Amino acid sequence: MARYTDPVCRLCRREGMKLYLKGSRCDSPKCALERRSTPPGMHTRRGKQSEYGLRLREKQRLKRFYGVLESQFRRFFKLASQSPANTGEQLLSLMERRLDNVVHRLGFAVNRPSARQLVSHGHIQVNGRTVNIPSYILRVNDVITVKDNKRSRQVVAEALKNSNVKVPDFLERVSTDPPEGKVVRLPTRDDVDDRIRNINEQMIIEISTR
Ligand code: SF4
Repeated sequence: MARYTDPVCRLCRREGMKLYLKGSRCDSPKCALERRSTPPGMHTRRGKQSEYGLRLREKQRLKRFYGVLESQFRRFFKLASQSPANTGEQLLSLMERRLDNVVHRLGFAVNRPSARQLVSHGHIQVNGRTVNIPSYILRVNDVITVKDNKRSRQVVAEALKNSNVKVPDFLERVSTDPPEGKVVRLPTRDDVDDRIRNINEQMIIEISTR
């Protein structure tokens, strides 16, 4: 399972926005973007961005916010464009339905990278069965629980204590002890995480269909 392993704060500096990849540090003055807002690298080009560049940045922001690499993004885009509904909204809905995203938005992990680790290490169950695929797409009425062992529960209890996320309307946090959540309906554009809500999905479609 491919994943990004280089320093994540560089991604925020590249995109010029907080991607919240480091938990509480992201809201503290230690945030790398607060301290140095320039893009990473020695030879950074300044000046007006091309139309292509603007669209590329928008796509990269979305991918990096949700921790998705190019091949997986293409899979999601294909699924979204096959749907009769609006492609941009479908794409955002699919991103929100990823298991790692849902684990984070239920407060079971302080950020998406931690949620991804929780899932891939086999701590999370969907409808009573262990699912270790972070990109697993959840459906309506799926129940998300944490494996019944001391280590799994401890990790999630710690995250719930430190988490300040607001559970979105398309999910329900049934209980915190034992941790349990449910998908009550499909997410819409309004359910997209506030921190990425100003993304321009039309630009992403334009660059992805070139
Ligand atoms: Fe991004 Fe968080 Fe690093 Fe700040 S601390 S640059 S928000 S990952």
